[in-house]
Amino acid sequence: MLRIFTPHYRVGRVWELTPERLQQWGLRALLLDVDCTLTRYSQGEALPEATAWIEQLRISGFQLCLVSNGMGARIRGFAERLELPCVAKAMKPLPWGIRRALRMLKAEHSQTAIVGDQLFADVMAGRLAGIRSILVEPIHPEEEPWYTRMKRIPERFLLSLREA
Ligand SMILES: [Mg+2]
Repeated sequence: MLRIFTPHYRVGRVWELTPERLQQWGLRALLLDVDCTLTRYSQGEALPEATAWIEQLRISGFQLCLVSNGMGARIRGFAERLELPCVAKAMKPLPWGIRRALRMLKAEHSQTAIVGDQLFADVMAGRLAGIRSILVEPIHPEEEPWYTRMKRIPERFLLSLREA
């Protein structure tokens, strides 16, 4: 039951996911959450470190796609600046956005992971779609809207169970 809320891997920030590390895990494609993963909540651009990391993965031959619950225009602008495909209004934790991104990239389930900051969106959607998930620490979660901050309470509880 708790499996659905259990990430396969956990790191602090996305740029800790080096190409070598991802290759060791047998990953060839990453689906990237936007808010609090690549940038602060609701910003128009990725952090410089995240942009440099994306470039490094691209050079190393990884397939990448943004998968965000954010609205179409903002996420599409974000994706265009990064020159990445995207699925906006993905409705995570439902798995449809992830399935769509997998089809767009023609990526294998077994070689793809979702990278995001929320158990009840990114990790759960990954589990439901049958791919691996990598949980990152949220970037400035205090800037999120109240309905997202509410989810942080049970999220911290579930993560503390695993650390105990
Ligand atoms: Mg997020």
